[in-house]
Amino acid sequence: MKKKLELLEQLQGSDKGIDEQLSAQNEHRAAISRLTEDLAALQRALVERQEEMASLRQEKAALEAALHTEQENIRRSETNMKEIRTNKEFQAVGREITTARKQVADIEEQLLQLVSRMDELQAAVDTLLGEYSASEATTAQGIAEMQQAIDSLQQAIDTAVAGREAIAKSLGSNLVRRYNQLREQRRGQALAEARDGSCTGCNMQLPPQMYNTLFRMEEIFFCPHCQRILILKQEQPT
Ligand SMILES: [Zn+2]
Repeated sequence: MKKKLELLEQLQGSDKGIDEQLSAQNEHRAAISRLTEDLAALQRALVERQEEMASLRQEKAALEAALHTEQENIRRSETNMKEIRTNKEFQAVGREITTARKQVADIEEQLLQLVSRMDELQAAVDTLLGEYSASEATTAQGIAEMQQAIDSLQQAIDTAVAGREAIAKSLGSNLVRRYNQLREQRRGQALAEARDGSCTGCNMQLPPQMYNTLFRMEEIFFCPHCQRILILKQEQPT
């Protein structure tokens, strides 16, 4: 029975190690997700600004076309003026030219503002492009490192699981089933040390008769309060 209790302790130690390695793997996986998400966010910001830039370019082309039209109108009106005979007509064409010139000035002002917005936007795009390419490299490297850590943890887990299976086999299926149930119910702790008459799993007092019998290591005892398998490290008090 002493041997079985020792094996149970080994089993619990091994399972605790496996749990820790699994949770370390999950942390690495979460870190990979964060890195990937950060890079994707940077890419979205970049694409957003590039799209904004494309729409400003369209706006600029439309303004330039309008400018060209107005300038053509002015040239045509100025040519027409030479053939005008009446003062009334002359005044009418003169008003057309004035209106068109005002339009040209407005469009030129809009173009100036647009170009300055485009310059600012281009600077932002360039900054983001730099950040993105730097981040792309460090993200790839970070992910590769995390993946390597996950893989080596997996090797350790596989080894530990094989060791655990060997221990479980020599313990017998009934006891292992009980142990597994307890582990699930008791947050991974199926065993509890009995010390000074109490169960250290739940801190409840054990029946004195049971506690004394524990020292003989003749059978496996379960704590009557938390049902954990009791193990003993203390020497029997003399
Ligand atoms: Zn207990």
